[in-house]
Amino acid sequence: MPAAWRTTPMPEPVQALPRTSTGMPVPFTVSRGHDPERIAYRPETGLTVVCDCEPHSEPPVFGSQCPERQRQCARDRLCSVCGQPIGDQEYSAFGALPMPGTDLYLEPGAHTGCLAYAFRACPVLARECGPDHPVVLAKRVHTYEMRRFYAPDQGMLAIHRHDDQGGHDTPLHLYVSQPLSACVLNRDSFLDRFLPTD
Ligand SMILES: [Zn+2]
Ligand SMILES: [Zn+2]
Repeated sequence: MPAAWRTTPMPEPVQALPRTSTGMPVPFTVSRGHDPERIAYRPETGLTVVCDCEPHSEPPVFGSQCPERQRQCARDRLCSVCGQPIGDQEYSAFGALPMPGTDLYLEPGAHTGCLAYAFRACPVLARECGPDHPVVLAKRVHTYEMRRFYAPDQGMLAIHRHDDQGGHDTPLHLYVSQPLSACVLNRDSFLDRFLPTD
């Protein structure tokens, strides 16, 4: 399915996003600028990967999530495409695949309409996700901390509960999301149901 961001009707919250020079909307969680990430100490989360990238002036780095905005989305139930709140009675939709061997997602949930738009408009999703690609929908989502220790020859990944102080000496990178009581559709059924029409 070719990317069709010029012809697919844009959901209203997507219209408010910053655009590339060609006019394509840039998803809320996309990193900006040249890797301004660093590790700092924060009282609530201990060692934490922080980022000072500026979403309205620096160029997007597609394929890379800003850790600050990624965590904000997961923690505050914001849509990973448009950055606006997802209501309590609305589905969070997950279009990426879970981390291998788990039901945990690195990409936070999105509005159904925003994700449907992204399947059509994002060149990577359009190329990589076929008609049978699974889309997970859930009204309730748990989150966990993904902490990451960087070593020269190997990294180590650990998943912690938010109230677990024991991980605070390993840098917090992202929050991972676990959809509860999820229902699963294939991509085409999902698009039939949720792709906005004009
Ligand atoms: Zn950033
Ligand atoms: Zn949205």
